[in-house]
Amino acid sequence: MNFVDKLAPFAVKHGLANGVLPSLIIAQGILESGSGTSELAKNANNLFGIKAGSGWTGPTYTKRTSEQDEDGNVYYINAAFRKYPSYEGCVMDLVHKYTHGTGWEDHNRYAAILNQTDYRKATAALHAAGYATDIKYAAKLNERIEQYGLTKYDKEVIDMVKIFIDPGHGGTDSGAVGNGLKEKDLTLAISKRIESLLTDYEGVQVKLSRTTDQTLSLKQRTDTANAWKADFLLSVHINAGGGKGYEDFIFNGKVSNKTIDFQAVLHSEITKMIPEFINRGKKRKNLHMVRESHMPSILTESGFIDSPDDSELLKSDEFLNRVALGHVNGIVKAFDLKKKDASTSTPAKEDGDLKFTSGTLKKEFETFLNSKAQREIAVREAVKQGYNAKWIKDLEEGKASDGDIAMLAIGALIKANK
Ligand SMILES: [Zn+2]
Repeated sequence: MNFVDKLAPFAVKHGLANGVLPSLIIAQGILESGSGTSELAKNANNLFGIKAGSGWTGPTYTKRTSEQDEDGNVYYINAAFRKYPSYEGCVMDLVHKYTHGTGWEDHNRYAAILNQTDYRKATAALHAAGYATDIKYAAKLNERIEQYGLTKYDKEVIDMVKIFIDPGHGGTDSGAVGNGLKEKDLTLAISKRIESLLTDYEGVQVKLSRTTDQTLSLKQRTDTANAWKADFLLSVHINAGGGKGYEDFIFNGKVSNKTIDFQAVLHSEITKMIPEFINRGKKRKNLHMVRESHMPSILTESGFIDSPDDSELLKSDEFLNRVALGHVNGIVKAFDLKKKDASTSTPAKEDGDLKFTSGTLKKEFETFLNSKAQREIAVREAVKQGYNAKWIKDLEEGKASDGDIAMLAIGALIKANK
């Protein structure tokens, strides 16, 4: 398998999960490891010259290494590098560096690399962050990306629909309170259900402004969504103040046509799922969450916490599921999301199932089990060799499992050869 084919799956997997262009990761791998031929790549699966550092508890590999100062002068140092079982480990560490920064600075100097769609901007950001001492590093990466056509690996990352969900309030801010309920708990419960339901769909990434009972300012929420370059922001709230029912809001200033369309779709899908709630309509208002977000955004108010009727419904898990499902159906329609292929989302076979490393043996096994005659031969032979005669009856009545038949066949053979 060639180097790019070997590295690409890890670059796509971890790039996709963290907003790093796979073309950047692969080009760095090609450049820094000489396409997997360097001493570090061969002996430590370390493509990026990642040093061990004080926090590393895994195996290390020590190597003399060259560096280049700003004037282009080469000098040498001896250093301990991380040793990985496969390329995946070094890809994960590289991506972690980009998402979390160096660890010794209070800001992430690599933040500008994240969520880029243009590889030239990503490589320029890497250069600006001082990633490499090689002053031509960005230009060399661009050359590799073009030469190897690496942008084809970026398609999935660029096409990914990013949904930002903001569970309203949290922490010291309970939001509205009434009838034994707190808005901050309901918004988090609904948002987590939405997130979970969206995992059934392809090409969509979800980020929550908070996943716990955390205090966040409105600015922190929109800043996160804007930095992430979300395609859609959904702020989930519960109403209060003496009314009843469901309503939603978009900004009452200038908004895109998409925003208006998305509100129409979400409003229709949500109200469809919760007919018990009075439909208070599609509304527009000057609210921080819908005003300060750089993408189409909506704020939904699913019922009044101080209404005895609404709050009774909000106490039901079944109802909250439908509130979430309505939001999800709206997002799915708005972005034309496709359900994941059933064959790829089916959980892996149980560990109890037989696994075959040989396709031929697997086929033999299946042919044997699918043949009525062969099943009979196996059971009769097993009984002849001393197994209980009840197996013949069980076979006739369809009570013998595939595993039983296979074991009887093997058992018969062993006994016959004793
Ligand atoms: Zn609220």
